[in-house]
Amino acid sequence: MMTLPEFRTRILEPLLRDETPAADTPLTLFAAMLERPLDYLFESDRWDELSGAARRLAQGWTKARSALAADGYPAEYLLHCDSGSLLALVHDRTVAERWVVAMERAVAAETDLVTVATLVHPVTLAQITNGLYATPRTVIGVPGMNDYQERINRYYGLSSPSTVPKEDAVTQRRHFGEVVALVRLLLTRAAESRQVVPFYEALPFAERCTSCRVRPAERIEDGPVCGVCLRKRREAQQGPAPERAGLVWLEAVGLDQVLEQQRTPSAYQRTYTEIDEALHIAVPNRLGATVLASLHGWMLLAVPAPKALEAATSALEALTLHYGLKSPTPFIAAVALGTTQNQVRSLHALVQRMVVGLRQASADTGSLLDVRVAQSPESYDRFRKPYTLDEARRLITGAAILQEEALPAGLFPDLAEQTARGNAGLYYTFERSRLPDNAQELLKRLERAWNVGATPGPRFYAMLSDALTLARANT
Ligand SMILES: [Zn+2]
Repeated sequence: MMTLPEFRTRILEPLLRDETPAADTPLTLFAAMLERPLDYLFESDRWDELSGAARRLAQGWTKARSALAADGYPAEYLLHCDSGSLLALVHDRTVAERWVVAMERAVAAETDLVTVATLVHPVTLAQITNGLYATPRTVIGVPGMNDYQERINRYYGLSSPSTVPKEDAVTQRRHFGEVVALVRLLLTRAAESRQVVPFYEALPFAERCTSCRVRPAERIEDGPVCGVCLRKRREAQQGPAPERAGLVWLEAVGLDQVLEQQRTPSAYQRTYTEIDEALHIAVPNRLGATVLASLHGWMLLAVPAPKALEAATSALEALTLHYGLKSPTPFIAAVALGTTQNQVRSLHALVQRMVVGLRQASADTGSLLDVRVAQSPESYDRFRKPYTLDEARRLITGAAILQEEALPAGLFPDLAEQTARGNAGLYYTFERSRLPDNAQELLKRLERAWNVGATPGPRFYAMLSDALTLARANT
């Protein structure tokens, strides 16, 4: 077996410089990822518990990572390492097995609940450079001889089911990305087949914690509370909860597909690091944004509600600017705005619903943004189209104009319904003519700012409806 210094100079460093190492030796892949960190963050609606949980999670992960650094694997010697997942090529299997235990313990000790999915898997150098294993030519080289020909051909990028992939098509398709796909699969399986889970016994007659409503209460402190929730509160940011909080979700859509296209470990390391750094650089700290959690191509931020749309838009602009036209994947931003204190769990649910639609829509159109205000009773229009960056900017301008003067309550109450019927133009003109002069003036300025022209289209009414909601929420 190689020693660590030998492994570094003869295998890892050449690989990360895109050179082919001269030596060969059995290697081990080590991967780790926090399991369902958001479930731990959003157990209750309380802001202080959310901010405390986010800090404890970050501390737990920092301690878990230090196990690798202590064994001679600092971040630059890993294939990737972000705020909740990592992938490494290791010289010694027993070292990697030690990390499994150390990382689980570090995160559990800090968060009481969160588990870490880990993977220790043997690989050879040939698999790292040339893909996992070769399908025999007797299987893929005989047309019509087997039932899987079509599937084989799709894998090697052939459109016709009857031909056979040539040698160069096979070599072209087989690279480090196959290892990345395997790691993803095995990590998912590790998380799904977990048998030992953190367990808090609660007898039927035990009083439940008012925060998580799951575990038995241990103390009375602002109501009955369990130990886990209490420790979150004690770690909370000092100072009062924000009057109205906003959540912003940023994501590089389809990161897994991008990573599986990387042909070498060094290309993988470059791509992953760049996306992770771009996300972190995009965080607009000046608007009061703080990172709650981030891993594997997504990031969740807390921003005071009045600044959240501006923060999300400028973060998305920064990402677009960073990559220019060569963005490997579209980026999306979902913004949920609170209306009262301590409603973080419903904001998170709202963000998650938006993200589903945004991912789908971004496949055709590139980077997109959506914004919604938490309303009760909740009305969620699934058919509303998300905003492009340009439209998001106009929305911010529009909401700012509408905020300048107090508009009558219940302005354009049926705008959404009339738009659906195709009567929005008539309805808008009529309702506007009944408004006081100053309100009419405000709307005229809005139309000019958005360059609406003589006949506004349906997109104008959709944006107007959102701008009104935003202006109302912010005043
Ligand atoms: Zn609790």
